[in-house]
Amino acid sequence: NRRLSVNNDQNRPQGIDKTRQAVEQLEAEREARRRAMQNRKKAREVAAQKNLEKGNPGDVDFIGHVESWRLTSPSPSPHSLSSALKICICVRKRPISSKEIKKKDHDSITVTNPLVTVHSAKLKVDGITKYIENNSFKFDHSFSEFEDTHELYKYTTWPLVEFILEGKGGRATAFAYGQTGSGKTYTMSGIQKMVATDIFTKLGEEEGRCKGSDTVVTVSFFELYGGRCQDLLNERCRLKILEDGKGEVVVQGLEEYQASNPSDFLTLVDAGNRNRTTHATEANDTSSRSHAICQILLRSSETGRLKGKLSLVDLAGSERGSDTKSHNRQRRTESSEINKSLLALKECIRALDSNGTAGKAHVPYRASKLTLVLKDCFTSALAKTTMIATVSPSSSSCDHTLNTLRYADRVKEKKVGEISSA
Ligand code: ADP
Ligand code: MG
Repeated sequence: NRRLSVNNDQNRPQGIDKTRQAVEQLEAEREARRRAMQNRKKAREVAAQKNLEKGNPGDVDFIGHVESWRLTSPSPSPHSLSSALKICICVRKRPISSKEIKKKDHDSITVTNPLVTVHSAKLKVDGITKYIENNSFKFDHSFSEFEDTHELYKYTTWPLVEFILEGKGGRATAFAYGQTGSGKTYTMSGIQKMVATDIFTKLGEEEGRCKGSDTVVTVSFFELYGGRCQDLLNERCRLKILEDGKGEVVVQGLEEYQASNPSDFLTLVDAGNRNRTTHATEANDTSSRSHAICQILLRSSETGRLKGKLSLVDLAGSERGSDTKSHNRQRRTESSEINKSLLALKECIRALDSNGTAGKAHVPYRASKLTLVLKDCFTSALAKTTMIATVSPSSSSCDHTLNTLRYADRVKEKKVGEISSA
């Protein structure tokens, strides 16, 4: 005891100094931390103010992470026309909407053609540290919110129009796939307008060259909704899908209207689109639960022989596929029907891809009504397909967006795949 206290006495002055030093150091450190925190807070406030001025009131930390990621991201490659592609898979990101901004949602998708990256907002286990997880996908084309429908059309749908205009009986199909609200209908209706002018311009040129082309253009437009097939150009008349003895699938009773110029064509298409969207204003939007198929047929005016067919398909919202928990029995049945058709669609396009010459691999087109009515698009030796996966930029849609991109990625047999990083 004594020895101890002696020792303590001897050491006291030095001990006090050490303690004081330690306390001072602790305080200095605390002060530095306080200052750093204040600076960070100020920086966040400045950043938030800047974002606000840019019309961007969302989470300042996540926005900051996305912005820094973008600083190091590669610049986009220019699009190149790939008319030789039998299957073209592309992605389109729409701009963020004012409604999303109002809800303080933020843009969490970066498009650097041919890549698209999803920045998912995450929290570390401490519950406060925010970070982003980045998943990149590569497609034939990726279109950003700054590229208009013309640009997208030029690289994805124009090759299809050219293909059917060859007059060899080609079957071309363009699908818009994605979550409700991601821009499927916006994109498809833009494409319909461009097809209208291009087809007649091209046919006119041809007519000029060989005096009197014998091609007539006809349009049919129908919808698949909960197992029903309805004619959008004939008062939603119910149609039957039949497979005849020769294995050809016929939509019995489907009206086909002739169009002699772009304006005729657009009148028909508008009527069909209106017939769909009157339903969309009802409490339960049916347009998000139906597939709309607009077909443009080129026929010989003399024999009626099919010289080419372009199907523009506005698919049901892909989120319905996973919505199987609904309390409403009808909704559940519809959802599982949609799920079935979207899965069948993927398998049919994959089969088309794995076939050097179509018709060899098994094409499971009978697995759903959607793939059944499009049978010739998957089994014809002359088939070409484009899939446009539309995505919403908002962070609250990240999970749906990832599902859409994974689906689109798996449609092709020979894919590049997904790269993740945090
Ligand atoms: P979906 O058919 O997939 O449910 P919509 O095509 O109806 O989605 O688009 C949802 C909303 O976003 C609409 O108001 C539409 O005008 C708008 N929108 C979609 N894509 C774009 C785009 N590329 N540029 C501008 N607005 C868009
Ligand atoms: Mg729609």
